Amino acid sequence: MTVVKADAYGHGLRQIATLLMQSGTDIFGVANLNEARDIRAVGRGWPILMLGACLPDEIERAIKDNVMPTLSSMSEARHFSRVAKRLKRTVTAHIKVDTGMGRLGAPCSEAPQLIESISNLPNITIAGLYTHYASAESDAPLSRTQRTSFLQLLNKLKAAGRSFEYIHMNNSAGLLHERKSNHNLARPGLLVYGVMPTGPRRPPAIMKRHIRPALSWKCRVSLVKSIAKGTKLSYGQTYTSKRTMRVATLTAGYGDGYHYSAQREARVLIGGRLCPILGHITMDQMIVDVSRVKTTKTGDEVVLIGKQGKHNITANQLAKWANTIPCEILTAIAYRVPRVYRGGQAA
Ligand SMILES: *Cc1c(COP(=O)(O)O)cnc(C)c1O
Repeated sequence: MTVVKADAYGHGLRQIATLLMQSGTDIFGVANLNEARDIRAVGRGWPILMLGACLPDEIERAIKDNVMPTLSSMSEARHFSRVAKRLKRTVTAHIKVDTGMGRLGAPCSEAPQLIESISNLPNITIAGLYTHYASAESDAPLSRTQRTSFLQLLNKLKAAGRSFEYIHMNNSAGLLHERKSNHNLARPGLLVYGVMPTGPRRPPAIMKRHIRPALSWKCRVSLVKSIAKGTKLSYGQTYTSKRTMRVATLTAGYGDGYHYSAQREARVLIGGRLCPILGHITMDQMIVDVSRVKTTKTGDEVVLIGKQGKHNITANQLAKWANTIPCEILTAIAYRVPRVYRGGQAA
């Protein structure tokens, strides 16, 4: 399953969905019904699992749109069964159990009874069973506990003669660090876009070598000027130059999704060099120090994420500067930033 929620992690859902259909993903994972509709707009008929819960007033639409729901409770299942019966349709559902994430899913202890009861409801077929890691990138003991709980449940269900078409547990971090829970389906998101989940657990070297970010993020230089020592910059005039400097104004700001909180530490790439941000980032623009890049001129390419010359700013690096995680960096890139697709040699 490829997880394409949040506009395919900021990469553009329709384009990514098209590519994934061509490359043969088996199932799409989405957060909600609007995302499912975007996929349907690209190509009808592809299996889609909604990873989020379906609200009562969305159930009819989920059934009509043929989106597989995630069920955590009997009341959700009853509701689906009732509406499906009225619509003369059959719902294909995945049941989720909670092994430590605490978000969706039935408690493991209640799962056998729940599955038994759901399987007796009319107009519902159970196609899958799954659970979700809470911190596979950082917490080996917790992951082991989660994995064991899920495995015990599977054994119990197997002993009771129950089987599932799909059993799944691994997200990106799970795929990297918990090979024992691969079962017959996995749900990577971040890794598909070429970004490593950040955490203290070390990914296998082969993955590090072969994973390449799909996306780079660029803006341009709009103005270059020299400023005298003691010049104050940007809102609040929080920055004062300690010497004569060359500074460049850029065409991106927090309104483009560049994290305001990154300003203290973040660098951008101009002319192959890392240039620090000066003062507050504003909605549409920011100011950077280009004293070391003498050739800087209006129109120059600025790399916010990606490679330029010998340097590479990863989403993980920008996340560190902004005190957040790479997923938030990618999904925050605003709608107004044009996505440009460059085929197999992207970025
Ligand atoms: C978002 C999500 C995923 C994908 O997670 P990544 O860490 O991006 O691989 C998988 N499963 C569920 C239930 C999710 O919500």
